[in-house]
Amino acid sequence: MKYQIFSLHNFRKIPQIAMLPEEEQFNIEVVAHVLPFKTNNYVVNELIDWNNYKDDPIYILNFPQKEMLAPDDFNHMAGVIKSGADRSTIKVEANKIRERLNPHPAGQLEYNVPELNGVRLTGVQHKYNETLLFFPSQGQTCHAYCTFCFRWPQFTGMDEMKFAMNEIERVIEYLKQHDEVTDVLITGGDPMIMKSKVVDLYLTKLIEADLPNLQNIRIGSKSLSFWPYRYLTDDDADDLLKSFEKVVNSGMSLAFMAHFNHHRELETEAVEQAIRKIRATGAQIRTQSPILKHINATPEIWSTMWRRQVQLGLIPYYMFIARDTGAQEYFGIPMVEAWNIFQKAYISVSGIARTVRGPSMSCTPGKVRIIGTTKIKGEKVFVLEFIQGRNSNWACRPFFAKYDEKALWMTDLKPAFGSENFFFEEDLSEILLK
Ligand SMILES: *Cc1c(COP(=O)(O)O)cnc(C)c1O
Ligand code: SF4
Repeated sequence: MKYQIFSLHNFRKIPQIAMLPEEEQFNIEVVAHVLPFKTNNYVVNELIDWNNYKDDPIYILNFPQKEMLAPDDFNHMAGVIKSGADRSTIKVEANKIRERLNPHPAGQLEYNVPELNGVRLTGVQHKYNETLLFFPSQGQTCHAYCTFCFRWPQFTGMDEMKFAMNEIERVIEYLKQHDEVTDVLITGGDPMIMKSKVVDLYLTKLIEADLPNLQNIRIGSKSLSFWPYRYLTDDDADDLLKSFEKVVNSGMSLAFMAHFNHHRELETEAVEQAIRKIRATGAQIRTQSPILKHINATPEIWSTMWRRQVQLGLIPYYMFIARDTGAQEYFGIPMVEAWNIFQKAYISVSGIARTVRGPSMSCTPGKVRIIGTTKIKGEKVFVLEFIQGRNSNWACRPFFAKYDEKALWMTDLKPAFGSENFFFEEDLSEILLK
C-alpha cells in the first residue's frame, strides 16, 4: 500500500472531505492552522466511518474539530483567514493561541533532561530511575497526528540523518554511567516513522554496547493504528522486523508499547497481520491510551478494546488521563468519571485483561493512579497512589485527596483530612530545586 499524506495544504483533495459541507471543511482549515494536522490514506479509507463522521471516534481523533479551540480563538482565527491575511500574519496569530494551550506540561522541558559530563543531553529524558526515554531526532513526527496530542510542540522540521550516530553514542555513554537504567524507551513523535536502517542503527548500537543492566528496549508507537503497512508492504518492512528479532536474539526483551484509542483500530485485516508479524519476531506488544471525551469515554469501548487486544495477543498496560494541555477542555473528563469508566470496564473483563493499570496521570511528581473514591470518618476522598515517583520511594503508598467531582487533574486536588500538603510535596520541592 502506498503511503499518501494529507495535511493543511491538501486535505480538501481527500474525496471523502470534498463531499462534506463547506463549513466543515473551513472549520478544519481554521483549527489546523493552530493544532497539528496530518492524516493518511489508511486512516481515511479503512478506519473512519464517513457515513457517521460527526460522531466517529477516529474522525475526531484525527481531524481537527471546531470545538477544540475556545470560541473566541476560533472566531479570531476564522476572521484572520477570511480577511486574506498573509502566511506570516496567520502564523503570529496561531502562535499566540498555542502559547495559551500550555505547550510544555509537567515540567517536561525544565526538569527531566539529564546531563552527560556536565552538558545537557537533549533528546533524552530521565525521570524515573529504571527507564530512560530517548527521542531520536528522525522520529519526531508520526504517520498521522492525534488531535489530542500533548507532544505537539515537538513537531518541528526534522533534523538530518548524520545526527543519528552521534545521538545514540551519547545515549550509550550516559547509560554506561547510569547502571540503574534497565529500560530504554525509544519514543517520539513515532520512532516507527524512521527508515528501518536508522532504527537498525539505534538497536544494533544498543545491543553491541552490551550494557550489563539493560534488559528491555521499548518502542512507543502508534504505527499499528495509523499505518500498519509499515510492517507489511513498506519497502523496508522486513528489515524492520529483522531488527526486532536481533534485539530478542541478543537476550533482551523488545517491548512494543502500542498506542490504541479505540477498538476500531484493532479491527482491520492490515492491523491483524501487522500484529502477527511483530509478535512473530518475539517482541511483546503492550497497549496504552488516554481516556478521551468524544473518542472513548464509555466502559463498553474500553472493555471491548481490552478483550480484543488480549485476543490478538496484546497486553493491556495503561489507561491515562488526558494531560493538562492542548485541547483539554474538549477531550478532558473529570477524574471521578475516568475512574468510574475504568472500574466498570475492568470488572467486565477476565483476569487476563486486568494487567491494565489506571486511570493514571503523568504529572510533575510522578505517575499518579486513582485507586478509587471512598468515605473515611465522614469525609469523602480520592484514594491515590504513585505508580512511579520522582522519588522512587513514593510508589505504592496510598494517599488521600479531598473528593472533588470537577477535578480534571492532579493540580486541581487538595489534601484530605485538613492536611496542608500532600506527603511528597516538601520532598518534591527539594528535588526540583536541584
Ligand atoms: C511513563 C513513563 C515512563 C515509564 O514508566 P513505566 O511505569 O515503567 O512504564 C518512563 N519515563 C517517563 C517520563 C514516563 O512518563
Ligand atoms: S501518534 Fe503519538 S506522538 Fe503522534 S500525534 Fe498521536 S499521540 Fe502524539
